[in-house]
Amino acid sequence: MPTSRIRPDALSVDTDVRTYPIRFVHLAEVPAHLNNLGLHGPSVVLITDENVAAHYRSPLVHAFEEAGWTPHVVVVPPGESSKSMAQLEQLYDTLLPLELERSTPVCTLGGGVVGDLGGFAAATLLRGLPLVHLPTSLLAQVDSSIGGKTGVNHAVGKNLIGSFYQPHGVLVDPETLHTLPAREWINGMAEAIKHGLIADPALVDYTEQHLTAILGDHDLSATVPAVRTAMHIKAQIVAEDTREAGKRAWLNFGHTFAHAIEQVAGYGTVAHGEAVALGMRAALYLSHRRAPQALDHARLDALLAMLPTPDVSALSFDALWTAMRHDKKTQDGTIRFVLLHAVGDPFVASDCSRASVQRAWDFVQQSTA
Ligand code: NAD
Ligand code: ZN
Repeated sequence: MPTSRIRPDALSVDTDVRTYPIRFVHLAEVPAHLNNLGLHGPSVVLITDENVAAHYRSPLVHAFEEAGWTPHVVVVPPGESSKSMAQLEQLYDTLLPLELERSTPVCTLGGGVVGDLGGFAAATLLRGLPLVHLPTSLLAQVDSSIGGKTGVNHAVGKNLIGSFYQPHGVLVDPETLHTLPAREWINGMAEAIKHGLIADPALVDYTEQHLTAILGDHDLSATVPAVRTAMHIKAQIVAEDTREAGKRAWLNFGHTFAHAIEQVAGYGTVAHGEAVALGMRAALYLSHRRAPQALDHARLDALLAMLPTPDVSALSFDALWTAMRHDKKTQDGTIRFVLLHAVGDPFVASDCSRASVQRAWDFVQQSTA
């Protein structure tokens, strides 16, 4: 890895609430690592989804039982629809009769859905149980397990009910990626490349060299350094702005377009990471128009174009523009875009004209047609 900022064995997240470690472990070592985090049994709550449970429930339960714990497992249906008040209530109904103690740890084993839902359950049960994320999707590893955002969706919009609730630790077993579906690799790598574009030219170089091995071969030796670096970047941004008052907004690079694309295409049609890949291409185009000298547009666009995306030729710019104007992050009708002065040097622009944004979308649409 060509960056000097990586300290592979000492990743941690320093927030106003607590500093917690990110550790790369085998699932079998999770019980011992909970002890190292100061968390003890006998009870532990494991929240996971059906897909992940099919592969990892037994080995994890076995590891806990071997170590003398009593695991209580809750399995939710996979997918975004589980981030609901109804599912949360079911979790409460299942867990409260167990007479948990304030010290009972909650582990979320899965992707961002399980992390957000289980994290919010942990935040609210008995006014807060210790939480440990065991992220198994690439997106959860590089992004959602760090930073303490938890919550569920509401009919009015995504992620509208929730809290900032920092975990006690994030324990990553990269081997779990062996069973991750191919499309989820694209979702995760879109966010990892985003971290590089906003914060670390070395990560951009690295993904440029290794993306084929990562997405094509799911080669863990190529993937893990990118995961570590992406986690480090997210941790640093969260440390500087835990409650999203400033720099944390940079993580929305590509997301103004992405949220509109997901909404206009119909949720689930274009996956989040795919929409982010398209949104980053539009944001790069806007950035390059402002600072043609500072960004190698052709090179960076080619990197993003390596992320496969579905056909978006049917999405009208008018519909996207309307969706962007109504996004919850839009204030006073002013649409904000995170743009780049250069790789690693983002800023928030609220003065992009409709015509310039349309040109950016036309570019993306034509080049994906
Ligand atoms: P997800 O949790 O739905 O996981 C994607 C799919 O992969 C699911 O079907 C899941 O069952 C499956 N899966 C996960 N790990 C697997 C494995 N190792 N083997 C086989 N299958 C596996 O989605 P996601 O992309 O991980 O996360 C998306 C969610 O994260 C969204 O709800 C989003 O809002 C949220 N999010 C939260 C934050 C945050 O800061 N809290 C940041 C980004 C995204
Ligand atoms: Zn995202």
